[in-house]
Amino acid sequence: MAPDERYRSVLLFGPPGVGKGTQGGILANIPGFFHLAVGDVFRAIDIGSEDGRQVYEYISRGELVPDDLTIKIWKKAVDAYVALARYKPREDLLILDGMPRNVAQVRIVRQYLNISSVISLECRDYEDMIHRIRRRAIRENRVDDANEEVIRRRFKVYEEVTAPVLEQFDESIVHRVDANGSPAEVLYSILEYVIPAQNELFAANQVD
Ligand code: ADP
Repeated sequence: MAPDERYRSVLLFGPPGVGKGTQGGILANIPGFFHLAVGDVFRAIDIGSEDGRQVYEYISRGELVPDDLTIKIWKKAVDAYVALARYKPREDLLILDGMPRNVAQVRIVRQYLNISSVISLECRDYEDMIHRIRRRAIRENRVDDANEEVIRRRFKVYEEVTAPVLEQFDESIVHRVDANGSPAEVLYSILEYVIPAQNELFAANQVD
């Protein structure tokens, strides 16, 4: 992809159960944002297909899906949304949730994304996040949320492999947001960073 055609985006970053999906879902309802959660894309794949079978195996163990498979599926999903005009890259800011999830993925996504901001949702209360995950397990019937051991492995993967991703970005674009408040309070903090990114996209695509 030519550097100036890359998708302008904001990354939602943070541990499992911190509220990335909730916030992404709210933003998705505001015109001018397109929310894409890699986990949702994975869960939507036909489990009978070869890709679906492999993805299911990794997700249900709480492990990361290998990078080549992740990127292939993610790119296919983005291309499909663009083709259907559900996502219009010149008008919509991409709110990407769940990627990059390791240092190697940072290099890969930079080929496709012009990253304006990285919003790191932070919550030190693990009990609270586990509580949210348990509620989600019932609500969404997620295979990776149901089992205590799988949840613990996801936190371990997050700390060891995903957390170092933040250091790959210039400090000036990394914004830490306290995720302990109500959804409305957390949204309020996030908007402070996504609105300027959306305005930049708007300005870049203004026709004189
Ligand atoms: P959570 O943030 O609660 O862990 P997600 O829905 O973002 O949930 O992800 C669910 C699972 O999908 C992850 O545990 C992992 O197995 C897989 N996954 C999601 N994003 C990626 C990614 N970028 N690379 C590899 N695996 C991923």
